[in-house]
Amino acid sequence: MPKHRIRYAVVGLGHIAQVAVLPAFAHARENSEVTALVSGNAAKLKALGKRYGIAHTYSYQAYDRCLREGHVDAVYIALPNSMHCEYAIRAARAGIHVLCEKPMAVTTSECERMTQAARQGRVKLMIAYRLHFERANMTAVQLARSGQLGSVRFFNSVFTMQVRAGDIRVKRKYGGGSLYDIGVYCINAARYLFGEEPLEVSAFAARGTDRRFKEVDEMTGALLRFPQDRLATFLCSFGATDVSAYEVVGTKGRLRVEPAYEYVGELKQQITIGGKTRERSFPGRDQFAAELIYFSDCILNNRVPEPSGEEGLNDVRIIEALYKSADSGRPVILKDLRQKRRATPKQIISRPPVKKPKLVQVKSPSL
Ligand code: NDP
Repeated sequence: MPKHRIRYAVVGLGHIAQVAVLPAFAHARENSEVTALVSGNAAKLKALGKRYGIAHTYSYQAYDRCLREGHVDAVYIALPNSMHCEYAIRAARAGIHVLCEKPMAVTTSECERMTQAARQGRVKLMIAYRLHFERANMTAVQLARSGQLGSVRFFNSVFTMQVRAGDIRVKRKYGGGSLYDIGVYCINAARYLFGEEPLEVSAFAARGTDRRFKEVDEMTGALLRFPQDRLATFLCSFGATDVSAYEVVGTKGRLRVEPAYEYVGELKQQITIGGKTRERSFPGRDQFAAELIYFSDCILNNRVPEPSGEEGLNDVRIIEALYKSADSGRPVILKDLRQKRRATPKQIISRPPVKKPKLVQVKSPSL
């Protein structure tokens, strides 16, 4: 293991930064540490700075100073989706590596500018797809590719939650919408399980009558056509009780993962082949420490991260196409979507789960 530790600034001290990112550094000490915080809230900077022993704290106005003062090598961007692009580009231009929350950004053009800035700044860019390092999902990839299910024909998923009124997820200006926030997991899972990119997509979006969904869809149902005439379907909703599940169905067997996408608690697989069903449980793990360890390793050993900027860009292209289809009532053809590198079980990193810390002036996104 390398002696040197990558020094991170955590940018945006909202819910995910407080419940998952900051506590994860305790499990990533082998190559990562948090040395700076960036926030618009002085009380958070003071309380969290003290709790985690972080000496360098900055407002957003002082972000460029944070990037140039020499206390950080990388940023972990945990801001609303609409801010990912700007904060990633500013870091890349300052020569600081970027680990950015999902979705990569709101538009294809933002994603392209981010990858370009990373290339020009000669920094690593990774999108925080924590499930690319998680055992239940990566062994699902292995099973789907192994032939044990026969020829895999379709993927079906449901990911739903009840979002709190006023949360960034239901505000258009912050890049809200069910596809951006949770649909992205279903899209990404279909892509890693099939190991292919969709050729054509179609969607229906619904708003219902709930006042929470004045600006964004309440739910979207999507249909994606993949090579070899495989289909993926999913439904993601902000206005329904918690469900987090997918199924991969082949000519000879099926795999059900439920819960599938969560970062707290155990994930479970149910595999049925030849009429026999077996279950596998995967205890809760610190999925955020896994990302930190992997990304720091990429920086220290000059490796290109998987999930890369291109991986994040493909999902955003698919999200844009799905919303376009929902608006126009027509399927949308996706041209030239490519991805050479795929998440594999080799990327699994297991660390013990974190305990939920006391939150400082932050609310949960769900009811
Ligand atoms: P929150 O709303 O809880 O946090 C966002 C934080 O961004 C705020 O607390 C605030 O921090 C900062 N911020 C800066 N400017 C603004 C602004 N104008 N309006 C609102 N907030 C602002 O959201 P989450 O933590 O739930 O989500 C943040 C990101 O993380 C999103 O991109 C989301 O998709 C992603 N996410 C990823 C998850 C995963 O499992 N990988 C799970 C949940 C979210 P401060 O007060 O410190 O300035």
